[in-house]
Amino acid sequence: MRGLTWKLGGALLLIVVVSVGLMAYLTNLSTTREFQQYVSRGNMMYTRSLADSLGDLYAVEQGWNNIQETLLSLPLSTSERILVTDSSGVIIADTAREWLGKESAEVSLSGGTPITVSGQMVGSLYLLSSSGMDMGRGHMGGRIPQTIPMVVTNEEGFLAQVNDSLWKVGLIAAAVALVIGLILTRQITRPVRALISGARHLTKGELSYRVTVKSRDEIGELADSFNIMASSLEKGEQSRRQLTADIAHELRTPLTVIEGTVDGIIDGVFQPDTEHLRSIKEQTALLTHLISDLRDISLAESGQLELNLTSTDMVELVRRVVSNYEINAREKDIRIKLEEEPQIHEIEADTVRMEQVISNLLTNAIRHTPSSGSISVTVKNDEGGLAISVADTGEGIAPEDLPHVFERFYRSGSSRSRKEGGTGLGLAIVKQMVEAHGGKVWVESKKDTGSIFSILLPFSI
Ligand code: ADP
Repeated sequence: MRGLTWKLGGALLLIVVVSVGLMAYLTNLSTTREFQQYVSRGNMMYTRSLADSLGDLYAVEQGWNNIQETLLSLPLSTSERILVTDSSGVIIADTAREWLGKESAEVSLSGGTPITVSGQMVGSLYLLSSSGMDMGRGHMGGRIPQTIPMVVTNEEGFLAQVNDSLWKVGLIAAAVALVIGLILTRQITRPVRALISGARHLTKGELSYRVTVKSRDEIGELADSFNIMASSLEKGEQSRRQLTADIAHELRTPLTVIEGTVDGIIDGVFQPDTEHLRSIKEQTALLTHLISDLRDISLAESGQLELNLTSTDMVELVRRVVSNYEINAREKDIRIKLEEEPQIHEIEADTVRMEQVISNLLTNAIRHTPSSGSISVTVKNDEGGLAISVADTGEGIAPEDLPHVFERFYRSGSSRSRKEGGTGLGLAIVKQMVEAHGGKVWVESKKDTGSIFSILLPFSI
């Protein structure tokens, strides 16, 4: 977790450093450009006004008398150099006293500001600097002494100051952003730490452990999903334990009967006659049935049930199963009625499994219908598939039992005692088999009136 905090912190620091650096660089570029333009404009205005003043001086003096002395008396900084040429281009004033009397072309002077008196050009003014800053409008020879702004002579210092301030502000902003970032990072990673701790509890088998994360963001959603996963694991574990207990219970009953009967025979209490041997045989058959049902359910639940799908005439199949049960029904004085009305008889199905499904429904219907009752089996085409229903006029199912009848080992009402001989797995198998065929099963029932179990199977999976 500390790794994640440092990674997030590092990423944040990188972002802050890059963005502050970029901001400082771009601000510096634009400040320098704007500043140079500003200085350049100031320089032009200054040069123009100086040229006008020199024009006035020319007019008063009626010529360039004492121009050199006048220039030298101006309060100029040491980096400034002013040159004046007369109308023929001869340098008549130079604050550096270097080129006095030379031709402007001789020293490659160009770009001077014209000095005019009454519209007549009487000379030119040049402002030079050897500072190396390209600020002005003229140039001179190879090494370029340029005309420079006289209004601001410390522009480099000014820009350096601006840059210095920029970097300081940048550093303070970076430090503040880093501190805030670290606080935020800790807040982000806190729920993640809670999730890690939750996962550790689950690993240790504490499946009732839930994480409390209040945030309504993605991490909150992750925590909700984590809790849902933990609940489902807990439910799965509970159902696994319940199943193990149920299986142990279901196996114990027939084994106890077998053991008791065998003990009785060994102790001479019972005779090893057909009656007692048949009882043992019935219990072993029940055990075999139970184990085979359990195997089918577990295969179906894990999606490993292999269906041998063939084109199956369901009307024919239902007819066959019904006729198998007619004797059982007659023994209880129950009438089985078969109604067939589908145009399409054939569906893709595993014949053996489908026989098992219809058999289970018929066994239940006969078991739970009192004598002189009736059972109606209907096969018809319905929306999207073939519908089969088994309706009886039996005891019905109480509303509180109805949602559970398809659960493993669930027995409602009188069946709870197991006297009736069911494994409690019949309907669970029906559900698994029908769903494995892509179909669905449901029940409608009214206590003391009867039940209707219906299945809908698609024509092809
Ligand atoms: P069992 O082997 O006990 O019949 P099932 O899974 O087939 O187990 O059925 C579960 C329970 O549903 C039964 O114990 C019974 O109480 C109830 N049940 C199933 N079919 C019917 C029916 N046709 N009428 C009334 N109750 C039924």
